[in-house]
Amino acid sequence: MLSNKQITSTIASHEDLVNDNALRPKSFDGYIGQTKVKENMKIYIEAAKNRGDALDHVLLYGPPGLGKTTLAGIVAGEMGSNIKVTSGPAITIPGEIVAVLMTLKDGDILFIDEIHRLSKPVEETLYSAMEDFAVDIVMGKDTTARSIHTKLPRFTLIGATTRPGLLSAPLRDRFGIIGHMDYYTPEELSTIVTASATKLNAPIDYEGAYQIALRSRGTPRLANRYLKRVRDYAEVRYDGEITKEVASATLDSLEVDTLGLDNNDRNILLAIIERFNGGPVGLDNLAATVGEDSGTIEDVYEPYLLQHGLIIRTPKGRVATKVAYEHFNLPIPENM
Ligand code: ADP
Repeated sequence: MLSNKQITSTIASHEDLVNDNALRPKSFDGYIGQTKVKENMKIYIEAAKNRGDALDHVLLYGPPGLGKTTLAGIVAGEMGSNIKVTSGPAITIPGEIVAVLMTLKDGDILFIDEIHRLSKPVEETLYSAMEDFAVDIVMGKDTTARSIHTKLPRFTLIGATTRPGLLSAPLRDRFGIIGHMDYYTPEELSTIVTASATKLNAPIDYEGAYQIALRSRGTPRLANRYLKRVRDYAEVRYDGEITKEVASATLDSLEVDTLGLDNNDRNILLAIIERFNGGPVGLDNLAATVGEDSGTIEDVYEPYLLQHGLIIRTPKGRVATKVAYEHFNLPIPENM
């Protein structure tokens, strides 16, 4: 059985991956929000198609679950291209990326998730592949080693990352199109929840969808995950319809609060407030205190807390704000 921590974790679980595919919109029409990135992509796609060219390489960045993989799939569909999907940690040596590149055809899309996690030698192999559509393959060993220059088809690399800052400058510079994904508004998430409920044949009213949207941390993956749990609750405890009452009761039981914060978010905030007197506290210190990886705090939890004004980042570390104290009904320190 999944613990609350697993259920509410913002990182994708196995169930999400299955769920994601079933609920993933297949065209721009079903892809809600991210207007800037979406409208720009439409123009670049149309221009590339008119020229009969491959699309320029695309880098999508933003927190997990915001629709980077989904967008890559839609771009492939619009370009009429095949898409191959892999991820930074899955490719460990240059030979593996070369093997993937050799299977591509003209106009194909290669999607690399978590591209910031590619090793340096693999990244370096990508430089010439992206720029010159060629790779140098080393055959033989030691004194018999020779390098064979091999042409590749004109493919499009779509890289996705939660940490653009970790990408080396030469790799970043080889992307012609860069798209920043933002958290979704409750209205946008509400539309996504309603569309997903329709796909799942789950009756839902406006207030029910809005309640799930409000508590999903601006993240479609979470909204879809919560929708499934709320549907279970609606079917077992109520008459099947997802209303505000059912959504609230389910999310309360999952310990997701009215701001969409889960136990992990609360642990981080309470550690800053209670263990470090409100901060400032350095990231590593905070990570050690809450028993979480510092990279995960930085990529997954912190962006939302920052965006909601619950913490701020100062040169000395993270500081909890008045909003955070108020959220927990804690007395606000006098020096604030
Ligand atoms: P990421 O690659 O950024 O981690 P995904 O593309 O896997 O995120 O999105 C997670 C799920 O959220 C998708 O399967 C899809 O169901 C839903 N989703 C994401 N973005 C949108 C969107 N703009 N409109 C509708 N559903 C979306």
